[in-house]
Amino acid sequence: MRCKCGAAVDALGAHYFGTCPYRRADYTVRNTALVHLLVRALRRSAQWRDVSVEVAIATPDPGDEGLRLDVRAVNAASTAAKRMEESVARPLGDTLLWWVVDAPANQVAAAGREVRKNRKYSDNHPDETPTLSFSPVVWETFDRLGPATAKFLAWALGGPNRSSSLAAFLTDASVILRRFNARLVIDGLACSLSTRPIAGEKGPPRRADISG
Ligand SMILES: [Zn+2]
Repeated sequence: MRCKCGAAVDALGAHYFGTCPYRRADYTVRNTALVHLLVRALRRSAQWRDVSVEVAIATPDPGDEGLRLDVRAVNAASTAAKRMEESVARPLGDTLLWWVVDAPANQVAAAGREVRKNRKYSDNHPDETPTLSFSPVVWETFDRLGPATAKFLAWALGGPNRSSSLAAFLTDASVILRRFNARLVIDGLACSLSTRPIAGEKGPPRRADISG
């Protein structure tokens, strides 16, 4: 079976989880849901103040997606600003699949994404100050956290008397990811179906044909 974009779709529907150009709107909505979840969690924590969502910042490089620094917050104790960007890494891609098969407990996709995000953002702050730092917040499609992300969130949202808050945040993020997985596959399959109304008949078509 092939997607409308031309890519092959396997039985898991892995193509729809992060690479389909027809699903970009869904990826953006998923990212927005995760960003606002993080913002709400940070605002509920006494550890942070001035929590805000940032807009994308264009870079002069043509073809570059720009800097998409999602969340900014100020640490109440140190007054240092922290920037965070959330993203979802796909562990089922062709280049990662054998790594995942070989060591399924390792967060290979998320760990790699953390390294790339740190490389991209840590040297490229638009208003760099000595007290500004960046932390990637990287999930995998099936809700695993990257290793650096797990440490960061445990520090940023956890701590004494806040373990339930951190647990609630992680549960909510997991629910968002899993519901979007279902939505991505359903929308993707619909995108890969061609519907042909029967000539002369009004109303929804009675059958759908799988393209490709
Ligand atoms: Zn596609």
